[in-house]
Amino acid sequence: MTLALADELAIRTHCPYCAFQCGMVVGDGGDSVEGDPHFPVNNGQLCIKGWTSTTLLRHPDRLTEPLIRVNGELVPTDWDTALDAAAEAIRNTKATHGADAVGFFGSGALTNEKAYLLGKFARVAVGTANIDYNGRYCMASAAAAANRAFGIDRGLPFPVEDIAKADVVLLIGSNIAETMPPLLQWFEKQKQAGGRLAVIDPRKTPTARAADLFLPITPGSDLALANGLLYLAIEENLIQRKFIAERTWGFDAVRRSVLAYHPAHVERLTCIGEASLRKLVRWLGTSNSAMILSGRGPEQQSKGVDTATAFINLALALGLPGKPASGWGTLTGQGNGQGGREHGQKADQLPGYRLIDNPTHREHIAKIWDIEASTLPRKGKSAFELLDAMGTEGGIRTLFVMGSNVAVASPDAIRIEKRLASLDHLVVCDAFLNETTAHADVVLPVYQWAEEDGTLTNLEGRVIRRRRVARPPRGVRGDIDVLRELADRLGCVDKFAFQSPREVFDELRRATAGGVADYSGITYDRIEREDGVFWPCPGEEHPGTPRLFAERFLHADGKARFMAVEHRPAGEEPDSQYPFYFTTGRYKEHYNSGAQTRRVGALLKAKPLPIVQIHPAAARRHRVASGNAVTLESRRGRSEFHAEVTPEIRPDTLFAPFHWGGRDSANRLVGAALDPISRMPEFKISAVQIVGVSS
Ligand code: SF4
Repeated sequence: MTLALADELAIRTHCPYCAFQCGMVVGDGGDSVEGDPHFPVNNGQLCIKGWTSTTLLRHPDRLTEPLIRVNGELVPTDWDTALDAAAEAIRNTKATHGADAVGFFGSGALTNEKAYLLGKFARVAVGTANIDYNGRYCMASAAAAANRAFGIDRGLPFPVEDIAKADVVLLIGSNIAETMPPLLQWFEKQKQAGGRLAVIDPRKTPTARAADLFLPITPGSDLALANGLLYLAIEENLIQRKFIAERTWGFDAVRRSVLAYHPAHVERLTCIGEASLRKLVRWLGTSNSAMILSGRGPEQQSKGVDTATAFINLALALGLPGKPASGWGTLTGQGNGQGGREHGQKADQLPGYRLIDNPTHREHIAKIWDIEASTLPRKGKSAFELLDAMGTEGGIRTLFVMGSNVAVASPDAIRIEKRLASLDHLVVCDAFLNETTAHADVVLPVYQWAEEDGTLTNLEGRVIRRRRVARPPRGVRGDIDVLRELADRLGCVDKFAFQSPREVFDELRRATAGGVADYSGITYDRIEREDGVFWPCPGEEHPGTPRLFAERFLHADGKARFMAVEHRPAGEEPDSQYPFYFTTGRYKEHYNSGAQTRRVGALLKAKPLPIVQIHPAAARRHRVASGNAVTLESRRGRSEFHAEVTPEIRPDTLFAPFHWGGRDSANRLVGAALDPISRMPEFKISAVQIVGVSS
């Protein structure tokens, strides 16, 4: 379709999917879509998901009436009946089991306004501590590591344009060629300018194929590799002693702790030899500028926080953070994964990245919300723990889900499906039926991305506006309207009387003022004029903060923290019964649980099924040929995939995507070992065996 930029009906907005948040121009209510050539992040490029995203706006599966379960079946009903039923479920559960028995599950896909309002609704209208979101499955480990090292969690501390200026980029466990193809333009520019790219991954992904140095690591050993690189940086005198002395604390303990990570030991753990380690650390330590960028590979582990910390230690020792075109960063996954974790839908947080257990933070938010701080709940259960408590004695009896397909997206998916089925009440706000609504008692049909205004915060920390470009179908309402209507039924509509996202954003700005994630100087009009504003932005005259750390880190004393961390095994390592590592990831054609992209004809045609990658040596042993149906088993269940025999994966590792549910579900195999700090499930490492092969 041709660009309708000149068309007065064409509106600048942003893609519904990943955290790159490509700018796009949508015309004629969704009939034409083009990459926005003026948005400086994607410069007009889109991936196939962006190009096809408006397909969902007039999809025949679209929900246009509320549904309620009668005699085991979901049947259409009117809005009042559905909202009354949802409010009654909340009231009854609260009266019988207490407020904490009502759980809320949000999403990294929600706009900042909705994430903020959902957090406020859970704490003020219901009074429950138990609200968390699927971003816990995505960014929690990197966020925790950044907070303890730098005193702030902003995925990238610099704009993506800086990637093009870096002499060296190290990418760990991130396959951007498939997950965010338009981001590649900045890596291509970096390469054209003579820069080098190193990639660490158990698979030779399309991203790894473009690398100047590829390190095919043993799954779960990234931390040991980072400590090994720091060992060599010290040995080769590459560390920046002045920077360490003036801008950091804690290096001596880290220096002592990495003494054990000599190259032979590291090679045993990682399968990466000394020559590659030395080459990489010399690149990082002798170049004028170097970046260490992390993806979900090192983070979605039961030691994800410590693994991210080990790479931050390396970056700090080399003096990279705050230096031009240098530093450590993490590539956020979900569309609003960044903003979603800043505004209070996470169990331990209040808006502005305030902490729910901090008395000063509680006072500030209580004042904005016009309540007593003593009535604010404390920290609740993390995402998986909240879901695992469903239907249990003293656990969650009613769950309210907004924009998340937890039945597919959660680890140990069979267990979570059983838990969903054991709830007293499940209320889901969504635009389509999915594997989670299959268990719902009430389904509320809500607007999609292009049918309402709102702000999101991209992977750079740039707050952007996603504009309404299409009229919603008759019968559908916005999440903000749903929360207002429910608040009315729960007797507190005065605190939720918002009529538009802009009104919510104005309260959010006041709530975040003075917080780490300060949005108080950001307005809809500024975002419009400036193509987004980077937080922190503490005043309307403040220019925003595209680059962090040049002068100081965000701890009170301005210094960053080293933290000694040690390698430890995964929650589940391969053994004689389950001999393969199983690791998961994404296809470029699909997004997260696939609830949207599995409905787009062009995407489904390109990738109709999940395929498991198997190395030829493993395939020979198990008599697997490409195209065979393969059944994998872990200690939690079985799933079926079609096989692709490829040398581009390690012989001890199998890979499959997680976009499908039911018998095609990768997450049925995945275990529920959690990181002790971030409570991130270990999506990247499970132990499996091949139990069936058929042609
Ligand atoms: Fe851009 Fe991500 Fe959307 Fe693809 S999915 S068009 S990379 S925002």
